[in-house]
Amino acid sequence: MEFLIDKAMHERLEQARHLGRTEVRPVGLEADHLSRPIPPNHAYFRRCLERGEGRTRWPGPNAKPRQTASDSTHTIVMQLLLAEEFSYWDRGVGVANPGVGLPEGNVIAMGTEEQKERFLGPFLNPDRPRWACFAMTEPGAGSDVAGIRTTARKDGDFWLLNGAKCFIGNASRADWILVWATVDPSLGRAGHRAFFVEQGTPGLGGFKIEKKMGLKAYESTSFTLEDCRVPAANLLGGEESYQRRAGFKSAMGTFNAGRPAIAANAVGMGRAVLDESLTFAREAGLLGDARVRDRLEHIARKLRLARLIYLRAGWLVDQQRPNVMEASMSKAAAATIAQEAASFGMEMLGAVGARGDHLIEKLYRDVKAMDIVEGTGQIQRIVMARHLVQLPSRD
Ligand SMILES: Cc1cc2nc3c(=O)[nH]c(=O)nc-3n(C[C@H](O)[C@H](O)[C@H](O)COP(=O)(O)OP(=O)(O)OC[C@H]3O[C@@H](n4cnc5c(N)ncnc54)[C@H](O)[C@@H]3O)c2cc1C
Repeated sequence: MEFLIDKAMHERLEQARHLGRTEVRPVGLEADHLSRPIPPNHAYFRRCLERGEGRTRWPGPNAKPRQTASDSTHTIVMQLLLAEEFSYWDRGVGVANPGVGLPEGNVIAMGTEEQKERFLGPFLNPDRPRWACFAMTEPGAGSDVAGIRTTARKDGDFWLLNGAKCFIGNASRADWILVWATVDPSLGRAGHRAFFVEQGTPGLGGFKIEKKMGLKAYESTSFTLEDCRVPAANLLGGEESYQRRAGFKSAMGTFNAGRPAIAANAVGMGRAVLDESLTFAREAGLLGDARVRDRLEHIARKLRLARLIYLRAGWLVDQQRPNVMEASMSKAAAATIAQEAASFGMEMLGAVGARGDHLIEKLYRDVKAMDIVEGTGQIQRIVMARHLVQLPSRD
């Protein structure tokens, strides 16, 4: 296992650092101050497109895959390092950025060629900021995704979707939403299927941007599906996937690739807290206090350990090797230490933190979600404990 950061990777990280300082942090602070998501027509998103961001990693019809083993900048390890760097400057802005986002892995892995062209094609060279999103969570089903109650019923050449989703990132601005529904609730996860629901489809509506304590830069939105008719061609993977009952495995595949990314986000946010804490402690003359130095060292050490675990989890993906344990461990470790760092930072600020205008206070609010998304800390520990004693994962 080798995590050498070569020249090309170093340059990409330097670019990200420059962008973070000049663009990402300021736009994230603006959204937090105004307590609302960055509007879709914000000039920041235009500039993202001009820089070539917001494009799908799907190479396009008949194209050769872009990734080669020798290209270090196209590895998962590189993506994770960039995710850490971006989140150092503002994790909410990272999610707000245009692009396919979370469902991209599902569509590349499971979509038919026709679906890739239809739904990923517009993201190859987008003419305007475009978003997509992944909708699993419901008011009654979060951790226990087997409990989703959004139903899908076949109706001739269409599917009829009925249900409600909540806390879905970028939903109201998405060109299409990958909606997870059940064809038979008695089947649990084996009954899950995913559907491309295009914005403007009759029956899709009731969009409501949820109130959030942090990560204000992007919208988390609830919506409803009422007799929402989608063409049979919009079933992810086509009719064949319906017969194979492969729906749930695809969703969990995304989560496994996603957990190290959330860990990387958490490490980036923890690092930002550490740097701000050091600056504050230095300016307030607190560095002479051995207790303060001890806490700073504890956080620095744990953040480095968390980074090593997420790098290993990502490296295993690059090697196309299973990473269930490492993916869960990376997220559980990184979210915990990042929250601890933010809590310590707030303690040190004292009354300054209570005023609500210090970056550490913002990070304290932002970081909590790292413990929740893509499986809470408790759920990661359940996954690891079952893996440790060689119990099968639940399905
Ligand atoms: C900022 C943010 C963005 C999000 N974005 C998306 C998105 O884009 N798409 C999407 O589909 N979802 C999204 N979600 C939803 C997220 O995936 C869920 O919040 C998460 O799965 C937890 O579900 P829940 O909130 O219903 O909590 P619950 O599942 O109700 O859990 C509540 C508490 O009980 C604990 N718990 C639950 N089951 C067990 C158990 N068996 N054993 C021990 N403890 C347990 C949990 O750990 C938690 O502490 C987002 C959430 C947030 C906060």
